Amino acid sequence: MTPVIRRVYLPFALMLAAAAGACRDSARHDDRSESARYAQSREIMGTFAEVTAFAPDRDTAQRAVEAAYDRLADVNRQMSDYSDDSEIGRLNRQPAGEKTVVSPETFLVLQRAMEIAEASGGAFDPTCRPLVQLWKHAGKENRLPEPEALADTMQHVGWRKVTLDPQDRSVAMTVQGVQIDLGGIAKGYALDLAAEALKQAGAQSGLVNVGGDVFALGSQPGDRPWRIGMKHPFQPGLFRTLAVRDRAVATSGVQQRFNVIDGKRYSHIVDPRTGRPAEQAPAVTVVAPDGLTADAWATVFSVLTVEEGQAMIESLPEIEAMWIWGSADAVQTAESSGFAQYVTAE
Ligand code: ADP
Ligand code: MG
Repeated sequence: MTPVIRRVYLPFALMLAAAAGACRDSARHDDRSESARYAQSREIMGTFAEVTAFAPDRDTAQRAVEAAYDRLADVNRQMSDYSDDSEIGRLNRQPAGEKTVVSPETFLVLQRAMEIAEASGGAFDPTCRPLVQLWKHAGKENRLPEPEALADTMQHVGWRKVTLDPQDRSVAMTVQGVQIDLGGIAKGYALDLAAEALKQAGAQSGLVNVGGDVFALGSQPGDRPWRIGMKHPFQPGLFRTLAVRDRAVATSGVQQRFNVIDGKRYSHIVDPRTGRPAEQAPAVTVVAPDGLTADAWATVFSVLTVEEGQAMIESLPEIEAMWIWGSADAVQTAESSGFAQYVTAE
């Protein structure tokens, strides 16, 4: 994945996971009243991560956190488009027509990416890498891309130019120069695997935070939901606090990462349908049952207009979102019909 945040503009990006302190709330005498908490922060995937576990004893909690970090590192190794030796790095160098067999994890993420590309009408597209690179280069040169360069790049973009064969888990590009970028989805999948690893290692509950995208496993001791702060996009402090159990929360938006050309900010999220940076790129926070879904749809909703996103989200089961745009003086928001269930008064 991309190290998903290549440059960290804000510590912990747009979200800030507020894990409560140790378990003192034992008045309920439930089976979690004996929980031990262990948390650790590390730099990984080009950003900051924090993993917290509650387990019957401290050693188990610590082992669970280590196991979660191992999974995060695995996904990074497999799916980063940065490193030439990752699976994605290899795919991006293979000649058109050639098949490359990839790991079950990478294959699954590619399959899901294709489904979301289809469902979003191409607003999400895992073949966006040539476009992302074109605009990044334009930012470095401080010059808009030539129309010819843009048109040429578009020839290499389009999820239908990739063929996935579930029989042998192979991937082939049908057009030379097609390149994959899983930066909008792999971090979310990594959250899912890390949360699963926490559970497998004996954690009762936990929180995985990678660059502000979060998976909240179970609830905190005392059956209290995990509290996740949504950072205010235009000023210091929180905009909302969410209360979630077994949910992932992901945020996308122009505020975090962008290219500057002639003093104008361009989103790091591209609209693969036009080849241009996403125009409005509101800050979008998505709550979903799993990280992959939350991450990818947050990217989709940064590409679509708020109205388009609102129209689409109501047919997506268990996916809720809040859009924030405008400016510090005139903040505008919209939310899906079920988002309010996650918002706590505070
Ligand atoms: P962040 O990395 O800040 O959390 P996102 O989750 O929205 O933000 O992912 C943005 C990344 O997704 C980009 O850096 C790029 O690697 C990739 N990307 C950009 N535009 C698209 C798109 N339209 N579809 C799929 N992936 C995209
Ligand atoms: Mg995303």
